[in-house]
Amino acid sequence: MSKLKKEYELYIKRQKEFQASPLSHYWIHQEERYVEPFRLFGNIYYIGDSWVCVHLIDTGDGLLMIDAGNTGQTASIIHNIWKLGFDPTNVKWIILSHCHLDHIGCANYFRRMFGTKIYMTDVETEVMRNSPEISALQDGPDITEEFPMPDEEIREGDCLSFGSLRMNFKIVGGHTPGCIAIFFDMKENEVVKRCGYFGGFGYNCLQTEYLLDIGDTRFQARRDYVNSINRVIDEKVDIMIGNHCNDVDLIPKSKILLAGVAENPFIDPDHWREYLGFKRDGVLKMIEEETQSA
Ligand SMILES: [Zn+2]
Repeated sequence: MSKLKKEYELYIKRQKEFQASPLSHYWIHQEERYVEPFRLFGNIYYIGDSWVCVHLIDTGDGLLMIDAGNTGQTASIIHNIWKLGFDPTNVKWIILSHCHLDHIGCANYFRRMFGTKIYMTDVETEVMRNSPEISALQDGPDITEEFPMPDEEIREGDCLSFGSLRMNFKIVGGHTPGCIAIFFDMKENEVVKRCGYFGGFGYNCLQTEYLLDIGDTRFQARRDYVNSINRVIDEKVDIMIGNHCNDVDLIPKSKILLAGVAENPFIDPDHWREYLGFKRDGVLKMIEEETQSA
């Protein structure tokens, strides 16, 4: 057999192994999760898919993105930015919610291609310096993918301006140690609404097997998760910005919004408190079961 043929067969073998992994559906045929971009409220636009949120905000002096989509999602994000009538070269800032591979997708490409500055919390940056495996890049589809270490680190309590937008930041560890929370005002037709973002809800990183594997033998991440929610649940939030679509029922709400027959369903002053409370209850249950099984 020729060397060329052997190399090709090895490649097909690796590809089959990847496709057989239970996680591969997150990366294969991402176009099946495509969502038409839409204006969510004021200058906030949705450009993510039906699983991972990506929001684009027109600050009046450049575009800001909250999160960078799934690994392998770059083309659809660029497509959506053009489709809304914006130019991807104007994306000046990307704020990463946390370090996982389904949130960092287009960050490196945007930095290299458009000079976009990447922001992440200092806590999360430290995690990536010391334990890059937490990103789960090793589960992803692209061996060339590197973690997009940030250009700027955001600290607890920071208040930063991006064009006309002023954002307040908190660090809400739990899902990962340095998840970000963001609060900002957005105006539409002279009405100002307070927006709130909580950057990481998944329980996947709170499971016993996972925590034992990373050396968190006292399940501190679960306590951090509960404490983080307690620190922000009383914030006044009229519009919750989702991290994943399920956090805010994004797909059904977008259909209502686009039908234009009802009030904007994303304006919901109860959702933040209810959803954060619901997620906290799930973790409190895990903590309760710890003591029962101990
Ligand atoms: Zn995550």
